[in-house]
Amino acid sequence: MKLYAAFPRLYRGKDKTLQESLMSWGFDCGDGWFDLIWKLSGDIEDVARKEGLDPCSYEWPEAVQVKQKFGTLRFHLEETSDAAMALIDAARAASAKICEVCGAPGSPGEGRHVQTLCREHAREKSSAHPVGDRMPVWKLQED
Ligand SMILES: [Zn+2]
Repeated sequence: MKLYAAFPRLYRGKDKTLQESLMSWGFDCGDGWFDLIWKLSGDIEDVARKEGLDPCSYEWPEAVQVKQKFGTLRFHLEETSDAAMALIDAARAASAKICEVCGAPGSPGEGRHVQTLCREHAREKSSAHPVGDRMPVWKLQED
């Protein structure tokens, strides 16, 4: 998985047990947000670097959960600085305009299981599944 390889310290929780870190569950959102998560990961590490944190230290930011909720990206750090919070908020706002499946421009749908989808994937969802159903579970794919 490219994100783990590129940001091994940020995603160090992936090797922990589920009790220790929900990150071991993986990324609970679609591939369409890959670029968004990639940029956010890089920006969070840039901030940490500017703050003078040591990548090998426990102070280095650690992602504990990355998932989709109510159609937008939720990215949780073990400890969040104001600067990182601003980045995460911006990414969450951006995710409301990006199809979670393919990365094309999209918008949050309606119903109980809101997802941000492009027109094509929204149509696919409504024809393949009863109204309100979430599309099948997918996760950012392994390489
Ligand atoms: Zn799409």
